[in-house]
Amino acid sequence: MEKLKNFIGGAFIDPVRGNYIDNYEPATGKVYCEIPNSDEEDVILAVKAAEEAYPVWSGMSNEERSKILVRLSEGIEARMDEFVRAESRDNGKPLALAAHVDIPRAVSNFHFFATAIIHFASEAHPMTGVGVNYTLRKPLGIVGCISPWNLPLYLFSWKIAPALAAGNCVIAKPSEVTPYTAYLLGQVANEAGMPPGVLNILHGEGGAAGDAIVKHPKIKAISFTGGTKTGEYIARTAAPMFKKLSLELGGKNPNIIFDDCDFKEMMSTTLRSSFANQGQICLCGSRIFVQKGIYEKFKEEFVRKVDATVVSNPEDPNAKLGAMVSKPHLDKVLSYIELAKEEGGTVLTGGTKVELPTPYDGGYYLRPTVIEGLSFDCRTNQEEIFGPVVTITPFETEEEVLMMANSTQYGLSATIWTSDLQRAHRMADKVDAGIVWINAWLVRDLRTPFGGVKSSGVGREGGWEALRFFTEPKNVFIKY
Ligand code: NDP
Repeated sequence: MEKLKNFIGGAFIDPVRGNYIDNYEPATGKVYCEIPNSDEEDVILAVKAAEEAYPVWSGMSNEERSKILVRLSEGIEARMDEFVRAESRDNGKPLALAAHVDIPRAVSNFHFFATAIIHFASEAHPMTGVGVNYTLRKPLGIVGCISPWNLPLYLFSWKIAPALAAGNCVIAKPSEVTPYTAYLLGQVANEAGMPPGVLNILHGEGGAAGDAIVKHPKIKAISFTGGTKTGEYIARTAAPMFKKLSLELGGKNPNIIFDDCDFKEMMSTTLRSSFANQGQICLCGSRIFVQKGIYEKFKEEFVRKVDATVVSNPEDPNAKLGAMVSKPHLDKVLSYIELAKEEGGTVLTGGTKVELPTPYDGGYYLRPTVIEGLSFDCRTNQEEIFGPVVTITPFETEEEVLMMANSTQYGLSATIWTSDLQRAHRMADKVDAGIVWINAWLVRDLRTPFGGVKSSGVGREGGWEALRFFTEPKNVFIKY
């Protein structure tokens, strides 16, 4: 069976203690490779490699680093099919989704930050008759990037690309559940001519390898995307060490649909925003609020279309949903469906596993699920489920829906459907979210700030925000 290796100092090496863990294919439920079960010993090695590489990498001009990162993005693009297949196999998502979203967006992220760094500028503050302040923006040194399993390479690149572009050396850990494209990324880094030790990729469990990255004193910043509980632990651990922190955490996003929306467009987008990637996107709208005038019409058409949605193995070109990422995650989502019933909810469609023929009979397939009849403040409507499960709730007024939308601890994104321009602005202003889409979903301009409020995170990724996070400003004053 294939054994993945850690990528440290430009070489693919075994974990120091020689321990491996199984990697499962969600589509079949079978183990298909092993990955290093790294711990603090491997982090120590990676930090040493990064320390050696740092003077070379941070001493390069932005143009030189840019060229290497452009080659890296082109290297992924050149191996598109291999990356797409690996992502789909590791995560369970339909091949088409990996081909249209995950890998092309990872390519774009590397390309975007490779070129952004050439245009990045720092500030000057002249004081008339006194002197001038100018601000240097220097790389932080060695930084840690930890990412989740839902959009594996895409979210990995979202952190690694700006960190590298700004001149930092990186110790990165993908989720143990989806390590494969990160493994391939190491190969592409070498092909692109990245100096050894600049990018180091460790595999293993969050509680061991991830924790050791967070705790290593020479790692100056942690950029983390994952669950709110893990983010809280990381904040508690890293804050006393005065590490810079960027935390992109969970969500429970409202999808607010007014009577006056473009019904057809809203319907097709809402099907995607509810169930894309098996509902395992932090931006999915899992709480759907529909104004009373169109509630029954919405419910009838939505449930009919969800019911007809094809759940199949990721290679099936008809599959709209593939497999859930893991058995424990499938069980967690199923337990929330049971909770919803206990809380008085009615399952309108879905709610059960999908049994596929061999060799997919051991895979983790779940029907997309729509639930109605729950109060806005019950656990099902307050806690992140992170699966293909949505609730639908009627409302009458803007005030009422805002109160329900803003009632959770989260505030990542919100989607609003209306053709009333003034209402759109009012709602966008008042909804608790870092990202608001009006009559759209998942449209991303890489220059815009990305992140959430309340328990959905601290800090922003994207554009200059990311380059500012991965640099330290130093103000210099010169007297005239
Ligand atoms: P987790 O928080 O479980 O894990 C995220 C990453 O952190 C993984 O690489 C994990 O490793 C690692 N990790 C776990 N424990 C620790 C620790 N103690 N110290 C350091 N690292 C650790 O999240 P999931 O992977 O389950 O991802 C789903 C979550 O991510 C959802 O809550 C979702 O909302 C959120 N998310 C947020 C996004 C945003 O932009 N705000 C975007 C995408 C997802 P391992 O997997 O090996 O345990």
